[in-house]
Amino acid sequence: MASTKELFLQNLAQTTDFPLALEISSAKGNFIIDTSGKKYLDLISGISVSNIGHCHPKVIEAITEQSKKYMHLMVYGEYIQGPQVELSEKLLRHLDSSLHSIYLLNSGSEAIEGALKVAKRYTGRPEMVAFVDAYHGSSHGALSAMGNEEFKTNFRPLLPGFTHLPFNDVQALSAITKNTAAVLIEPIQGEAGYLVPNPGYLAAIRKRCDEVGALLIFDEIQTGFGRTGTFFAHQREGIVPDIITLAKGMGGGMPIGAFVTSKEIMDSLKENPILGHITTFGGHPVSCAAAIANLDVLETENWIEEVDAKSQLFKDLLVHPEIVSIKGRGFMLAVEMKSFDRLKTVIDRCIEKGLITDWFLFNDYSMRIAPPLPITEEEIRWACATILEAIEETK
Ligand code: PMP
Repeated sequence: MASTKELFLQNLAQTTDFPLALEISSAKGNFIIDTSGKKYLDLISGISVSNIGHCHPKVIEAITEQSKKYMHLMVYGEYIQGPQVELSEKLLRHLDSSLHSIYLLNSGSEAIEGALKVAKRYTGRPEMVAFVDAYHGSSHGALSAMGNEEFKTNFRPLLPGFTHLPFNDVQALSAITKNTAAVLIEPIQGEAGYLVPNPGYLAAIRKRCDEVGALLIFDEIQTGFGRTGTFFAHQREGIVPDIITLAKGMGGGMPIGAFVTSKEIMDSLKENPILGHITTFGGHPVSCAAAIANLDVLETENWIEEVDAKSQLFKDLLVHPEIVSIKGRGFMLAVEMKSFDRLKTVIDRCIEKGLITDWFLFNDYSMRIAPPLPITEEEIRWACATILEAIEETK
C-alpha cells in the first residue's frame, strides 16, 4: 500500500520537485509536530499567517460555536450574517475612519483582484503602478502586479497597463500620472526579502497620488495584524491609503481576506453594472468567527507591543561572519547569507534540528524569520543558537 507521502507526491498537484514534505500530525502555539512525534519551532508562521500561534483555543471555540449555528448560506452580500457584521465593527476600529467599507473574501489574491477592480471602476482610468520585486498573489490580476519577470513571463498575456517602478526610488514616482488608476504597494516588501521603505518614501507616494488623483492601495496581506510591531505596518509611517488589502494573519489560521476602502469608492461596485464583484464563499461565517476571535486575542494580549524588543533580540543574537546583514522590521526579518548554496544547507540543517525557516520567492540568499508573535525570549535564544550551530556544522 502506498504511504501517505507517496500519495501526496502522486495525487496532489506539485509546484516544485523539492517539496519539504514534512508529514504533520498537529500544531499548537509556536510549534508544529510531525507524525514521528518530532517537534519543530515555527519561525515562519505558515508565511505570516499564524500570528497568534497555531490552534489558539479562542479560535477553536469560535469555529466550533459558529459551525453549530450555520456555515455557508448564500453568496456574499445578500443575507445579514452576524459574524460578518461583528467582524466589520471590530476590524474597522483598527483603521483610519476614512476606511469604513469592507468587502470580505477568502484569500490575499482575491483581495488584490477586488482592490484593482474597484480602483479601475471608481477612477475610470486604465493604468496601474506596482513595484519591482512586488508580490501580490498568483491569480492573473495579482500576477500582472508582480514585479518579477521570471515568475510571470510564461503566463502572458496578462493585464495590460501595469508599470513597475523601482522600490524606494522617489525620482521614479513621476511615472504616476493622471492615467494611473492606482498605485499598489506593500508597506514592507515581502518576497523581495523584507525591504523597508526609506523614511518619507510612502509619504512621497501619497503626495504624488494626491497630485494626479490616483488611488493608493497598501497591500498589508503579509504585514498586517501585528507582524511589524504595529497593528498595520502603514500606521508606523502615519500615511493613510485609499484602499487596504488584508488576508493571512486575519483569520487566526482560517482562510479569509478583505479589501477596505471608503463607502464612496466601494459603492462604485454596486452600479453600472450591479454586482460589480461577486464571491460565493467570501466572508464565510466560520472564517469570520475565527477572525473575530483572532482580533480579541490580539487586543487582549500585549504581543504586538513586544514585537520590536523581540525582533532586536534576534538581531543581537544572530551575529556571525557568514551573516551579511539582517533586513526588515519587527517579525519580518531577512537574514542575508553569502550564497544560495550556503543558505540552503543551513536551512536544511535547521529543519533537521527542529527549527522551521525558509527563504524568499525573489531573494534566495536570505533566511526568513517571521515567527508567531507569542514566541518567547527563551525560544528566540534557542532559535538563534540553533541557526548559528547550523552555520558552524555545515561549514
Ligand atoms: N500579497 C502579499 C503581500 C502576499 O505576501 C501574499 C501571499 N504571500 C499575497 C498578496 C497573496 O495572498 P494569497 O496567497 O492568500 O492569495
